[in-house]
Amino acid sequence: MTQVETHILGFPRIGDDRELKWASEKFWKGEITENELQVVAKNIRKTNWERQKATGITKIPSNDFSFYDQVLDTTALVGAIPDRYNFNGGQVDLETYFLCARGKLSAGQPEKTSCCGGTCQSKATTALEMTKWFDTNYHYLVPEFKKNQSFSLSSNKIFDEYLEAKDLGIETTPVILGPISYLYLGKAKGSTFNRLDLLPELLDVYQEIFAKLNKLGVEWIQVDEPVFSLDLPAEYLSAYQATYKTLKQAAGNTKLLLTNYFGALDEKSETFFNLDVDGFHVDLVRGASDIKNIQKNLPVNKVLSAGIVNGRNIWKNDYQKSIEILNSLTAFVKEENLWVSSSCSLLHSPVSLNPEQELDEEIKSWLAFASEKLVEITELKEILISGDVENNEQYLANQKIINTYKTSTRVHNPVVEEKVNNVSADYFSRNLPFAERVKIQNKVLNLPKFPTTTIGSFPQTAETRSAHRKGRKGAVYSDELIDFCKKTIKETIKIQEDLGLDVLVHGESERNDMVEYFGRLLDGFTFSEFGWVQSYGSRCVKPPIIFGDVSLPKPMTVEWAKYAQSCSEKIVKGMLTGPVTILQWSFVREDIPRSETTWQIALAIREEVLALEAAGIKIIQIDEPALREGLPLREKDWAAYLDWAVKAFQIAASGVKDETQIHTHMCYCDFEDIIQAIADLDADVISVENSRSDEALLKTFEEFQYPNEIGLGLWDIHSPRVPSVEEMTKILKRALEVFKPEQVWVNPDCGLKTRGWPETIDSLRNLVAVAENIRKEY
Ligand code: GLN
Ligand code: ZN
Repeated sequence: MTQVETHILGFPRIGDDRELKWASEKFWKGEITENELQVVAKNIRKTNWERQKATGITKIPSNDFSFYDQVLDTTALVGAIPDRYNFNGGQVDLETYFLCARGKLSAGQPEKTSCCGGTCQSKATTALEMTKWFDTNYHYLVPEFKKNQSFSLSSNKIFDEYLEAKDLGIETTPVILGPISYLYLGKAKGSTFNRLDLLPELLDVYQEIFAKLNKLGVEWIQVDEPVFSLDLPAEYLSAYQATYKTLKQAAGNTKLLLTNYFGALDEKSETFFNLDVDGFHVDLVRGASDIKNIQKNLPVNKVLSAGIVNGRNIWKNDYQKSIEILNSLTAFVKEENLWVSSSCSLLHSPVSLNPEQELDEEIKSWLAFASEKLVEITELKEILISGDVENNEQYLANQKIINTYKTSTRVHNPVVEEKVNNVSADYFSRNLPFAERVKIQNKVLNLPKFPTTTIGSFPQTAETRSAHRKGRKGAVYSDELIDFCKKTIKETIKIQEDLGLDVLVHGESERNDMVEYFGRLLDGFTFSEFGWVQSYGSRCVKPPIIFGDVSLPKPMTVEWAKYAQSCSEKIVKGMLTGPVTILQWSFVREDIPRSETTWQIALAIREEVLALEAAGIKIIQIDEPALREGLPLREKDWAAYLDWAVKAFQIAASGVKDETQIHTHMCYCDFEDIIQAIADLDADVISVENSRSDEALLKTFEEFQYPNEIGLGLWDIHSPRVPSVEEMTKILKRALEVFKPEQVWVNPDCGLKTRGWPETIDSLRNLVAVAENIRKEY
């Protein structure tokens, strides 16, 4: 075997030191020129290409770079810029591009901030809507189509970047989002119409693009059609054949590599492999079940790009497993047609392990970030070619490390594993049903009707952030920082008392982040220093790494909660992050199911809940804002996920006495699909974001009788605007058409950490007034 190619679908574009973030943000502030930003971008691309080449990748992508997001790039490419951005044809310039991405404030208008994904809108020129890219933590800007939308070739980026690489002596494979995925991921605006009706006109532009790429001498074009991983409506699926026939013709002798990733093709594999293209990429990590489909449906003489190195996680590839799969593929794919590849774009992994100095050496040896994945792909190819694993140094070295992980006592904790095995049905429900325990809680808690509360965090000022920077190293707090947090807690409680709120919070000033705070205190977690991954635009996240069985060495919040409670006669809520959210926002293990890790976390949170209760905390909130986003891509997998996810919450919450009140909080989400699961959590009180929901949320609750107590967010905290008593009362009264008065709480719609103090105090004063007024009426 000699001719196997090596391929990736895309590389992180943020730069080794997040150069793109710093440069973009400076450009937005007017601190650097467009030219200076372009120089930074060009250097990132050069570094990326050269690194791939030096590592031995033979099919190197271009146009995987983006100033914000690859879907927005496609929108610019085909000129589908909505009218409000005043695009007058020609080329979409960077100003228009960023206007689509970020919107524009009118003079004097304050900017909105985002707590959990950044989809808030309140600008003079609103940005395109942002939503999650499949089930990753990356977000894309949703294309907006109008009826009879026209398209025209409006960006040269894809051509320019190909030529830019060529100038460096590197032949690349331009990447483009396929036309059907592009339409499907967009939205019809204004009058309702079928987006698919726009396909013929869109295809004209794609034909032009493909013909132009062919003229430039491009050898391969990578066309991404990841909607194959979704429950794709039949009409979309049936549009594929004619579409790719047309594209193939337009491309002339340039070859097309069609990709699917993030899931299996399953029942769509026949359609996929029948398309008139030259090669196919499949995700053999998420879509391992596709192997039999490849065997059955891959036409002879066509290329197969086997996505074997996981682009979405940070673990070292297990060469034994990969070589086995690759070997099995060689039974029906000719060697010259086999490409060893990443499962999806490496965009979803951090850039490189190189700068990590503080990571434990053993844990580090178990990891591979994007740059290390390039090496893995090349090594896998070489091992495959050599056909002799027994004497292959790289193979043996890899297996040695994989084995240390498999057998490490730092990873496997028999006590934890046994605890999970011993979870029994009584962990999934409270002692008494809600209808009974609410009576006990009402007596013990003695709250007024329409109790007022907040979601947890209070403003995190520059002073808070600087105190953390100076006084905290990981989970270790200096005495000064502890004093600072205590002082802040005391003041925050005093402010809430003065405002007349009923259930107080400590304000979360000791937490930098609602997942990292807990991860730092739990066994089984570790943290990289530079493991940044793009979330959207210039925003990056650095997810915790769950490497081993999770357990609670000692209580994480009890001292803070006790201190907070000692500052007031009123009830102060304990505040925790739920197991599903901690899992969702971390890099997770692959050697055990997600459900098992989640239950381990749930058991740790359960211990924390019980420790809080024992310390005299009467109300405990367990936030689960990420419950909805954990839903699998295919509906057929939802029930199984919701089953273990809901049980995880119950494990965390159900150990308490009847009189202890459990709250939960969820940020904005489409509740419709999961309303039964939300009810099944059986939290005594849920607070939800409501401000953006244009009635949809209430409609859901009109159709579904929610049994427990609920606080719909009356104040949209994503803006510094102070809501009036009247407008909050209006929302509350609308809620009272749906819920019984005794069910209803009065609260803002999310944590206040991104807000400033002045508007927080004014808004909460109004919120308390809303509750006082409504009590007179009921
Ligand atoms: N308790 C958290 C806070 O108030 C909840 C944050 C969230 O919902 N994203 O900040
Ligand atoms: Zn929230």
